[in-house]
Amino acid sequence: MVSNGMTSTTSGPEFAVAIDRARCDGEAKCFRLCPVRVFSLERPAPDLGWVKRAKVVLHGGRLAVVVNPSACIGCMACVEACPDRAVYVFRSDS
Ligand code: SF4
Repeated sequence: MVSNGMTSTTSGPEFAVAIDRARCDGEAKCFRLCPVRVFSLERPAPDLGWVKRAKVVLHGGRLAVVVNPSACIGCMACVEACPDRAVYVFRSDS
């Protein structure tokens, strides 16, 4: 975890995957589309603001987290599918 509002950042052998908590509204398209199960879903922290919590609840009550970044193959399906532009994938070996 880092302090600039980005969470779930961990490097794999070639790619790093991050979810911006400030943007993510819990639509979970990354979780559903990732072919190698990089993401999981978890309940939001208790201190999540009520507006954000309402959006998350509307989408099922869970937020995506990066749990298996070393599996990422860089297909970019998660980045392209996220309506909130909350997912970042970048080369970690350059
Ligand atoms: S780029 Fe592809 S493999 Fe990597 S996390 Fe996104 S959907 Fe999964």
